[in-house]
Amino acid sequence: MLLDLYEILEIHLSASDGEIKKAYRKLALRYHPDKVEEHEREEAELKFKEISHAYEVLSDEAKRLDYDLYGSTDGMPGSSGAGGYSSNPFDHAYSSQDFHPDDFYNFFSNMNTGGPTPGGRGPQPLQRTEDARIDVDITLEDLYKGKTYKITSSRNIICTTCSGTGARKKAMHKECAACSGQGYTVKIKRVGPGLASKFHVTCETCDGAGKIIRPKDKCKACAGSKVVEETKILEFEVAPGSQDGESIVLNGESDQYPGKLTGDVILTVHCKPHDVFTRKGDDLYIKHRITLVEALSGFSKVIAANLDGRAIHVTTTKGQVIRPGDFLRIPKEGMPVKQASLWFSLAQKKGDLYIAIDIEFPQDNWYLEKNDLVKLLNLLPTDLADKVQANKQQVPVETLNGANIEYVTDYKIVQKSGLPHYEADEPQPEQPDYSSQEYSTECAQQ
Ligand SMILES: [Zn+2]
Ligand SMILES: [Zn+2]
Repeated sequence: MLLDLYEILEIHLSASDGEIKKAYRKLALRYHPDKVEEHEREEAELKFKEISHAYEVLSDEAKRLDYDLYGSTDGMPGSSGAGGYSSNPFDHAYSSQDFHPDDFYNFFSNMNTGGPTPGGRGPQPLQRTEDARIDVDITLEDLYKGKTYKITSSRNIICTTCSGTGARKKAMHKECAACSGQGYTVKIKRVGPGLASKFHVTCETCDGAGKIIRPKDKCKACAGSKVVEETKILEFEVAPGSQDGESIVLNGESDQYPGKLTGDVILTVHCKPHDVFTRKGDDLYIKHRITLVEALSGFSKVIAANLDGRAIHVTTTKGQVIRPGDFLRIPKEGMPVKQASLWFSLAQKKGDLYIAIDIEFPQDNWYLEKNDLVKLLNLLPTDLADKVQANKQQVPVETLNGANIEYVTDYKIVQKSGLPHYEADEPQPEQPDYSSQEYSTECAQQ
């Protein structure tokens, strides 16, 4: 196998012309057939030829680029056939007839996301200045009502005095020596021996301008930096009903820089948890505890202060029983539904308010006299209304023959939280899913 030209000269892929020359001189001296012992001559001659060839290719800019890209150059030994310097692993993928060097180059162009421009010449596509990001904590009240953030922004804008050139009008420009006035330099990225992809890097010396401004020619207004600082107040409108994590984008309000597109300023709102309300989509949820009497006989009272400060007074229908697990749904007392346009804001749509009812049963021995229990027995049903359930709970008569009855008074009331833990029912993650059954509208309407 033939050695890589860079390996022959013992240099790095990024070696400069000077380094190549130096490496060649050093090796040529070492292997010059006139400078070695008789018995080493033959080997030295071969080596010397190799070194000379490597130098011939790598010292010539065009040939070096061809070698970097295609692994061979015209007129090189072995460049005509499938063998030789072309240890290109893609050779087998193309039949030699339909493979054109450009195909190979394009293959790498596409692979390189930074993207050299077609043909490998010319400037890069326009870059953007960085976006500026602002994060703010917002209350649920502010998301309900909407809020305007006024934020003082300091940014760079293109200097108007010099129109972003950084120089006085009649300044003399000197071509940048580092990039020969191109504004960019070509870098080679090697993928394997004789395989490379080239891409452009903005010249650091002239910052891509291709020319250097003499100190005395610098623009007085921006001191040659091409940009000046501007302070202004940016307004971000958070529309009523906006969601947690929503962003407002002010296009082109980030730093300006000559030759670059201007980035955006992006404000993102993060909703703080609310003491009373939980938001699910455009609906709001609260918990409310009532007494057993209220559950049985109804109530008429203020249940919550809404997010806009109005008190919500609920009067239930007389005779309607509220059961454990029930929700009351109050239409249109949820979050505003964010509108696409302000024109529709007159007909503001809103989500609903769901009140999760928690029923507090009385304390033990709640009655004043024993007769109260008798009164209650007479007032409330003593038989189950659900006959199917009642039958299921009935123990067959034949087991009730006296001998088989266990009389129990030794029991404890255990809360759900006081039950033993079993491995089988371990992780029961809460379902915050809005579509979960518990919170579905049907349930709440019961
Ligand atoms: Zn200026
Ligand atoms: Zn330059």
